[in-house]
Amino acid sequence: MKIHRALQGAAVLLLAGAIVTAHAAKLNVMTSTEDLAALAREVGGDKINVDSIAKGYQDPHFVEPKPSFLLKLQKADLLAVVGLDLEIGWLPPLQTQARNGKIQKGGPGYLDLSTACQILEIPQGQVTRAMGDVHPMGNPHYWLDPENGRRIAKAFMTKLSEMDAADAATFQQRYADFDKRLTTAQKGWEAKMAPYKGRKVITYHRSWPNFCERFGLQVVDYVEPRPGIPPSPTHTLELINTMKRDGISLILVEPYFDLRTPNSIAQQVGGDVAVLLPSVGGKKEVTDYFQLFDYDVNLLVSLFQKHK
Ligand SMILES: [Zn+2]
Repeated sequence: MKIHRALQGAAVLLLAGAIVTAHAAKLNVMTSTEDLAALAREVGGDKINVDSIAKGYQDPHFVEPKPSFLLKLQKADLLAVVGLDLEIGWLPPLQTQARNGKIQKGGPGYLDLSTACQILEIPQGQVTRAMGDVHPMGNPHYWLDPENGRRIAKAFMTKLSEMDAADAATFQQRYADFDKRLTTAQKGWEAKMAPYKGRKVITYHRSWPNFCERFGLQVVDYVEPRPGIPPSPTHTLELINTMKRDGISLILVEPYFDLRTPNSIAQQVGGDVAVLLPSVGGKKEVTDYFQLFDYDVNLLVSLFQKHK
């Protein structure tokens, strides 16, 4: 009898301990990309743990699904994704193997940010992957417009408040603060880019429609003949002719692509290659969403000044 009572007491203590832990525990947030992690961090602060699977210097279409991510996905309360099939090649097997019901598509801990954002280049009519097109559902690089960054942060605020009602006031306050800082920063970026409105550029991959629309740049053509398809000699020749004809000097290239073709094109037209960062973490020093636009806008401005 005595032993039984002692055990009961221990059980009560254990239970109390578990409740205390549950209240103090931070939400474990996993994101597919570093941009989403950066925006989740703006809203969640020290109330959440955040980690991303893809690194900002990797091509987000093609990420190696390392088993080390499984443990993190097993413990995740929330999985935030870019969606529009950006992660189709690597995330679904990790999700399945993690055997965490919460973070499966449609689960309570699954957040697809594309549903909250403005999406460009949504294909009309029959969609096929036959040509290797990696953007079959619209352009998935939508986080490169600060207005979509704001929408992503707001979606995080709503979701985190739902999952952790006790900290909802903190999430709302942090979102309001982010919103304010973003408005100020965006005015600065737009002012810096204003003199170059209407400039024509070539981009390697279709990563920049949202960015270019926001800042008034005109994307005329791409180094890739189709999204996800490597450069071809015929298309490269067409590009050189287009750039010469239209007086286009800049080729925007993501850091994970081979620079040989863009460099050779730039050389033949007397232009420049701008290695812009499509993601937070694209360079070590670019650690948040604001630094990402600071970096890209400053680089573009310096190159536009060079090619008047
Ligand atoms: Zn893409």
